[in-house]
Amino acid sequence: MNNLLAETLAGLEGRTYNFSAGPAPIPQAVLEQARDELLDYNREGASIMEVSHRGKSFLEVAEQSEQDLRDLLKIPSNYKVLFLQGGARGQFAAIPLNLKGDKQSADYVNSGHWAQSAIKEAQRYLNVNVIADGKGASFHTMPEEADWRFSSDAAYVHYTPNETIGGLEFPFIPDSGDVPLVADMSSNILSRPIDISKFGLIYAGAQKNIGPAGLTVVIVREDLLDRSHAHCPAVLDYRVQSDKDSMYNTPPTFAWYLAGLVFKWLKAQGGLEAVDQLNDRKSGKLYKTIDDSGFYHNKVDPRWRSRMNVPFTLADPELDKVFLAESEKAGFLYLKGHKAVGGMRASIYNAVPENHVDALVSFMREFERKYG
Ligand SMILES: *Cc1c(COP(=O)(O)O)cnc(C)c1O
Repeated sequence: MNNLLAETLAGLEGRTYNFSAGPAPIPQAVLEQARDELLDYNREGASIMEVSHRGKSFLEVAEQSEQDLRDLLKIPSNYKVLFLQGGARGQFAAIPLNLKGDKQSADYVNSGHWAQSAIKEAQRYLNVNVIADGKGASFHTMPEEADWRFSSDAAYVHYTPNETIGGLEFPFIPDSGDVPLVADMSSNILSRPIDISKFGLIYAGAQKNIGPAGLTVVIVREDLLDRSHAHCPAVLDYRVQSDKDSMYNTPPTFAWYLAGLVFKWLKAQGGLEAVDQLNDRKSGKLYKTIDDSGFYHNKVDPRWRSRMNVPFTLADPELDKVFLAESEKAGFLYLKGHKAVGGMRASIYNAVPENHVDALVSFMREFERKYG
């Protein structure tokens, strides 16, 4: 074990290097605050998860967390922020059920595993036009936007800005004209500043870059609240949830509270401009290590590489098991790639500290020296 690795491990206080794709790391400072407040929140003599969502304490949490998210993403006032359940997959159904209106079809961009899952679910409710498809290129790159075949009468255009499994991230925000743009930002929301006004709707399961599993954040433009299908379940209906401040049913209060602490933590990091630079550095270090070696490979077109999920393979796949066993012994968790693509994957969301990436880089260099 080299010095950097030994030093960083010593500073981990029983925790380890966690590169899980989701549920994923939560900032240590957030966990410590939650621990300190766990038995007695706000001198109520009870935990925040034990009190009514309609009580003063939780309503303050709800309001403050929404405001902090609005500040971070500079969300314009004509957008609603909803704190829901059902995960991103719940939204795969909610989106066609809410946005179909009187249209027959929607445009979808097929960029990999999650886009395909969204398409499959949407097909239960409407006709899906795949307007751009990365399948022919094994999702290592995507057709440029000029070649996308937008339809004239689509209810909306759906895309997946970051493909968590394939490690592909869109380097631009598509221009869908007057047709609402819908984005599954589950794995890259809050990783950089974005222009919300370019979107009709953004959604994200919380368990990658927001907080614990169980919470789903939806940011939706107000004019899209009144198109829902008569059969849309009320819990999934944006108008219903918006009118009830996301409390039509009991919200996942503890996950919402933790998300609020993460938003505060992001603000304390310097907001999304600072986070953006850090994500450039963290992912840059990993890709450089991969590209500088003849030993590690990442096949994604450099322009389309994800800053959140970095998959890599070894020149000799026989070594995968050895890499995973030795890295685990050295304190690195969840580096195994998704079974759909194999190999390895390091997920480096906002909460993964830069020195954990440094430690991984030195482990990879050492492993290469030993086996390369
Ligand atoms: C993890 C993930 C999903 C699935 O989220 P659930 O909350 O489990 O439904 C969907 N889309 C993307 C991009 C993801 O990363």
